[in-house]
Amino acid sequence: MDELLREMEAYAQRERVPIINEKGREAFIRLIEENKPHRVLEIGTAIGYSALLLACHGAEDIRITTLELSEERAEAAKSYWGKSPHRERMELHIGDAGEILSCLVPPQQGFDFVFIDAAKGQYVDYFRKVQPLLAEKAVIVADNVLFRGYVLGKEKPPRRYKTIVKRLREYLDLVQHTPGFRTEILENGDGLAVTYIDTTEERI
Ligand code: SAM
Repeated sequence: MDELLREMEAYAQRERVPIINEKGREAFIRLIEENKPHRVLEIGTAIGYSALLLACHGAEDIRITTLELSEERAEAAKSYWGKSPHRERMELHIGDAGEILSCLVPPQQGFDFVFIDAAKGQYVDYFRKVQPLLAEKAVIVADNVLFRGYVLGKEKPPRRYKTIVKRLREYLDLVQHTPGFRTEILENGDGLAVTYIDTTEERI
């Protein structure tokens, strides 16, 4: 598996595919190992790298439903998974994640782990649509929430990032203030928001 993961990292670097970065990766693997998910929803497959990390470090019976807009990246993901022992664990949906989430049928017990890593401006929409798909106990991990330090930092973002930064601030505000959830922000990599269902509070 290590060799395949190194091959994917090299491909991502060469073709400029944004996969979870090295520092974020360590924290991400730790979260997978702590939570040992069985039923994962991933929003933003790219070439299937984080999905393989989930398959390698999650529960033995893990199933991963993953969403990707780009057909080219989805094809690359399928081809890489085919070289691993985990191809059968992956269910790939190609198309716009927001649209797919509106009609996605969750597994019977709901998803117990969600990884949000697609369009940064859509995280609020993803969080709202994911809520009815969750298991009773679930964790939602969102990548890039600190976006190069601009989201919680004092420095003003360049014009081209203004909207993304504003939307990511809205996401953090939402996950920190929605009743029934509690959120930790990890500074690793580009920032990970880790949102748990708070079993001490009722969800509305
Ligand atoms: N999770 C992957 C990993 O770490 O290996 C990286 C995902 S990459 C940061 C984000 C991916 O989301 C890109 O491949 C992009 O094509 C996809 N994406 C962007 N907008 C999308 C949308 N509206 N619906 C589905 N996928 C989208």
